[in-house]
Amino acid sequence: MEKLLAFDFSAFLVMFVLLSTTISRRMIHGKENRIFLATLACAFLTTVFDVWSIVLDVYAEGALTLKYISHSLYLFFHSLMVVIYICYIVSLADIWHRLKRNILHKILLPLPMIIVTILLISNFFTHKVFYMNAEGHYTRGSLFAFIYLAGFAYAIYGIFFILANKVLFKRSRFWALMSVFLLVFAATFLQMFMPGIVIEMFATTIGLLFISMIIQKPEENIDLTTGLQNATAYSIDIKRNFHNEKVFDIIMINVANFHSVRDIIGFDAANDLLVEVANKLRAVNKSSKLNSDLYYLGKGKFRLTIDEDMRERSLEIAELVNTTLQKNFDVNHINLNLICYVCITRCPYDVDDYEILMHFGERFTDNIEYSGNVLLARELFSKERYDLFNKLDSIIENAITNHKFQVYYQPIYSTEEKRFNSAEALLRLKDDTYGFIPPDVFIPAAEKSGAIHRIGAYVLEEVCDFIASSDLPKLNIDYIEINLSVAQCMHQDLSKQVLNILDKYKVSPDKINLEITETATSNLHSIMLKNLQELTEAGVSFSLDDFGTGYSNMQRVASLPLKIVKLDRTFVNHEENPKLSIVLENTVKMIKDMDMQIVAEGIETEQLVTRFADMKCEYIQGYYFSKPIPRNDFIVFITKHLNSNK
Ligand code: C2E
Ligand code: MG
Ligand code: MG
Repeated sequence: MEKLLAFDFSAFLVMFVLLSTTISRRMIHGKENRIFLATLACAFLTTVFDVWSIVLDVYAEGALTLKYISHSLYLFFHSLMVVIYICYIVSLADIWHRLKRNILHKILLPLPMIIVTILLISNFFTHKVFYMNAEGHYTRGSLFAFIYLAGFAYAIYGIFFILANKVLFKRSRFWALMSVFLLVFAATFLQMFMPGIVIEMFATTIGLLFISMIIQKPEENIDLTTGLQNATAYSIDIKRNFHNEKVFDIIMINVANFHSVRDIIGFDAANDLLVEVANKLRAVNKSSKLNSDLYYLGKGKFRLTIDEDMRERSLEIAELVNTTLQKNFDVNHINLNLICYVCITRCPYDVDDYEILMHFGERFTDNIEYSGNVLLARELFSKERYDLFNKLDSIIENAITNHKFQVYYQPIYSTEEKRFNSAEALLRLKDDTYGFIPPDVFIPAAEKSGAIHRIGAYVLEEVCDFIASSDLPKLNIDYIEINLSVAQCMHQDLSKQVLNILDKYKVSPDKINLEITETATSNLHSIMLKNLQELTEAGVSFSLDDFGTGYSNMQRVASLPLKIVKLDRTFVNHEENPKLSIVLENTVKMIKDMDMQIVAEGIETEQLVTRFADMKCEYIQGYYFSKPIPRNDFIVFITKHLNSNK
């Protein structure tokens, strides 16, 4: 009997540890996690009543009522555990919606459990399932077999379900789920031959332990800051939903000013803020009895998915989320206002493709003025645009192979010398299907895919080819500016690559000027500094591009070896605001005092040309003079200008 207890008692201990670690690992959010927790709770109660029954059988004489209660509860939770385990498997496959539609499933699945419950209750009077014999010992009755039969039927159903939906499970998941059944069958089989060893619960526990280790891994699925499900869980769930042809809505919440708020309050406080947002979303989920899955994807992006049967309430919920998040947040006694864009996306009606959905979620706030209203994806969504994002990688690869990229040149005017002394090289991509694709779209994609390095090398070669050609000396162009993206600046071999190309075309380093952006300089990376140093030493000059768009930091500007600062067009165009004009004038003065030259970008009117010339800005670039144009047109443009100046 002690041997018997040893197995069950260890099962009880393991279940206790498993249950408490699952709770302490915060695996309580999300449908699957909750059902797994219910399975564990049920298995734990089964072991509790199992141990209790054995203790009563062995050590307590009499105590008949207690014995009846504990054995009945043991059998009840044992059967229930199998049912909940099946529910867990169905949740992992996420095809509840299909089962709910199937009337046979709806009736047949709960039936054995209902009969078991009725049998166990009536057993208090009929003693047909089990009874205490004359010596007070537990004895099986004539209907006991049904309890086993019910469990067996559920197990067979579970095995067939896993096999039939094998494609929906990863290999490791498949075997972990199967292991519970296989272990229990093996244990039951063993028990038939060695009735002294009751190890079935022990086997079940080991199976659940497997699942806990292989499937229920919080570090993979839970965001540690907010406790919500993370981007990996979101991506798995969305892919599975599309695969299973589910109808569902997503409420997307993008906190547009998250990064700027974080810059102000610091990382730790920003994390506290995220927790507050998460708590508010949880409260909405709870108060509206939604039971939906909540995710935090990082970078201030939250998601809430709504199942088919709740979809008619999506707008109401989104409105509730919207008003909740519009209220001020109090973090470390700082009152903060978050700009949260809330958007409802109906799948598959608005979007029926995983990649497109992800792109949409990243960008739906682009170019939309914040109105405070709930947005609807169907009103924002342009399929062609997201189709394009989806295919961008292959478009770029195709453009590299088939020479679809072209370098255009935009002339830059020197206000002192009254001539065009330089130009900026700007890349153009013309696709056969999508036409001209703007660099703001393809450069970030090329940075992500890594294609930017080949593209960068191509631009540099084209420019060097132009500089080395016999055309350039006739044009009186001193140097050509070339844009470098952040990824290029961070590349180990950048300086070597640039110097090799200059060498290949026998171009002097002072004939090019490399433009770096504020974003690249904001995280002063050691590789970037090394590149900057090596190239400066070799005689290449640098410009700081887009000055005035981000958090322009004068200290940083002063610490870098820059020849030119390029004022962004959004910075130069605000005559209507007198205060900003003062900022502009003083910025220009400060840059000049630091011995750097200035290019005013995006100049479209004569009035602005005069204004910047009066401020003694050395160079002016903009549509007022010319848009970026192909190499041959550029030669014609400059030649014409030189001739008219003669
Ligand atoms: P950027 O370097 O700031 O380039 C200036 C952008 O302003 C160009 O846009 C140019 O066409 C536009 N622009 C110039 N004057 C005016 C004006 O008067 N009015 C208006 N509205 N716009 C004007 P573009 O060519 O679309 O390039 C956008 C950005 O893409 C560039 O901004 C640059 O960051 C990036 N880019 C372009 N070519 C390359 C490249 O070869 N390599 C890298 N890494 N980035 C590139
Ligand atoms: Mg530029
Ligand atoms: Mg610029």
